[in-house]
Amino acid sequence: MEKSATEENKPLNFIEEIIDNDLKAGKYESILTRFPPEPNGYLHMGHAASICLNFGVAKKFGGKTNLRFDDTNPVAEDVEYVNSIQEDIKWLGFEWANVFYASDYFDTLYDYAVQLIKQGDAYVCDLTSEEIAQQKGTPTEAGKNSPYRNRSVEENLDLFARMKAGEFKEGEKTLRAKIDMTSPNMLMRDPLLYRIKFAHHHRTGDKWCIYPMYDFAHGQSDSIEKITHSICTLEFVPHREVYDWLIAKLGIYPSKQYEFARVNVNYTVMSKRKLLQLVNEKHVNGWDDPRMPTISGMRRRGITPTAIRQFCEKAGIAKREKINEFSLLEFCTREHLNKIALRRMVVFNPIKVVITNLENEISLDIENNPEDENGGKRHVIFTKEIFIEKDDFVETPQKKIFKMEVGKAIRLKGAFIVTCTNVVKNEDDTISEIHCTYHENSKSGNDKSGIKVQGTLHWVSAQYAIPVEIREYDRLFKVENPSDEEGDFKDYINENSLNVIPNAYAEPVLQQATLEHHFQFLRKGYFYLDKTSTAEKIIFNKTVGLKDNWSK
Ligand code: ATP
Ligand code: MG
Repeated sequence: MEKSATEENKPLNFIEEIIDNDLKAGKYESILTRFPPEPNGYLHMGHAASICLNFGVAKKFGGKTNLRFDDTNPVAEDVEYVNSIQEDIKWLGFEWANVFYASDYFDTLYDYAVQLIKQGDAYVCDLTSEEIAQQKGTPTEAGKNSPYRNRSVEENLDLFARMKAGEFKEGEKTLRAKIDMTSPNMLMRDPLLYRIKFAHHHRTGDKWCIYPMYDFAHGQSDSIEKITHSICTLEFVPHREVYDWLIAKLGIYPSKQYEFARVNVNYTVMSKRKLLQLVNEKHVNGWDDPRMPTISGMRRRGITPTAIRQFCEKAGIAKREKINEFSLLEFCTREHLNKIALRRMVVFNPIKVVITNLENEISLDIENNPEDENGGKRHVIFTKEIFIEKDDFVETPQKKIFKMEVGKAIRLKGAFIVTCTNVVKNEDDTISEIHCTYHENSKSGNDKSGIKVQGTLHWVSAQYAIPVEIREYDRLFKVENPSDEEGDFKDYINENSLNVIPNAYAEPVLQQATLEHHFQFLRKGYFYLDKTSTAEKIIFNKTVGLKDNWSK
C-alpha cells in the first residue's frame, strides 16, 4: 500500500493512545480488532472511516482485524451486500485475518442464553413490545418489573426451548436479561436478548425462528473471537454497560468497547437506510452511482483508495460529532491524482481551426505526466484541421484573458505556436472556422521561434479525434445537511447533479483507456472511465475539477 507523508509520524489519536498504553502495560500480547458491518447495504464513507480506524490501528500496533458480518437481523440482509462489502474493503487496501458471521455463533449464543436462565439472569417475558415500552419508565422515573420476571428457572428453560421450537407467534414472547428496572441507564432495564422472528436467514435458512438482539450478539461475538478492542460509534456509549454486564455474567473473554464519533460529510447522507431509498426510488442509478457517498460510487467516479485513506486520516478520530467538508475529500483526491493521472486532451465544445500553412501531418510525442519522470510519452498527431474549445476563441479581446484572437499568437499544448489570421463566418454571422498559421520552429520542447505567448490551449486533431461522452457531477443535495432539514431529506436533492456532454472530442489514445488509469483532461479536471463504457460508446466520469469551487 502506498503511504503518504502524513500517514507516518502522526501523533496518536485517542484510540491509538488507549491501545498503546494497554500494550505498554502488558495487558495484551497483541491486539485484535474487528469491522462488523451489517450486510444490509453497500458501505459508505462513514464505514471507510471505521475500516481505516479498525484495520489501521491493528496494522500500526502489529495486531490483526477480523471482518465480521453482523447478520443477526434476517430481514434486510443479502449476499449481494456481503460480496460488495468484501470487495470494498480489499479495494481500500486492507486485509482481514478471518471472515466471520455473527450467525455462525447462533448455537453458542443460544447456549449462553440458557446459561443466563439457569443462573437466574434471564427470563421469558410475555409482555408485548408496547407494554414493555410502557413499563420501561423514563430517564427520570424508574421502570416497573415485568409480572413474568420471577418465573422459575425450569419454566423459563421450558418456554425458551419452545420459543426456539416455533411454538409461539412473533411478538408473543421475548427473552430478557434480569438486570435492574430502576437503573438510570434505560438500556439496563431488563433489555431484550431474543425475539421471535419467522424469517429466512441468508445463511442459516429456516433453522431459527428466534434471533438474538444486537446487545446479545455483538459483545458475545467479540468475546468468542477474543477481540481486544471493540471500536464502535458514540451512539453505543449507553450499550457499554450492558456489554460489560453480559460478559461478566457469562464469564467469557473480556473484550472492551470504545467509542468514537461518526464521520459525517456535508451535502450528502450517510445512512444505508437513506441511501437505499435513493436507489429504490431511482434518484440515482444504483448503489455505485458516482454521486453516491458509497465506496463503490466513489470508486466508479475515480476517487482512489489512497485519497479516501488520506481523507479519513485528515478528518481524524474524534470524541464529538462534526461534519466534514466534501471538499476535503476532493482536495485529497486532487492531490493524489495530480501525481498519477495521465494527461490527455479532450475538447468538450469544439470549434474548427484550420492551420493554413500545414501541408503534411506532424507526429508529436507528448509527455504523459509531468509529475512523473517515468511516465513516458504518447503519440499525438498534429493535422491541418484541429478542434479547440469554442470558449477559447474571442472576437473581442479582453485584458488579462489569454485566448485565441485574430492577430495574436498562442501555443497549442505539446505542439506549436500558432497565429490566428482570420475567421470564416456563416451567413448568420456565427464562426464556421478559424484560420491560423503555425510557426515551424516553435515546437514544444525545442522552441527557437523567440515568440512570446501568454497562454496554452488544449486541442485535438479533427481528423483523428474520437467521440466520447462526458458525465459531470455536482453535489447530490442542495443543502449541507439534508438529514437535519425540515421535511424529508429527499426534498433537498439537487436535480441538476448530473450533466452529460454527449459528444466531446478526445485524442485517439483514449480509445484504449481502461479502469487501470486515471486521467487529467488538460484544463478540464480529472476523469475516469465509466465501468459501462464500451469500444463503441466511451464514457468518462469527472472525478473532480482542477480547482476547488466549493469550500468556504
Ligand atoms: P448505517 O446507519 O449507515 O446503516 P450502521 O452503523 O448501521 O450505519 P453497520 O453496518 O452496522 O452500519 O456499521 C459497521 C461499522 O461501521 C460499525 O462499527 C459502525 O459503527 C461503523 N460506522 C457506520 N457508519 C459510520 C460513520 N458514519 N462513521 C464512522 N463509523 C461508522
Ligand atoms: Mg446498523
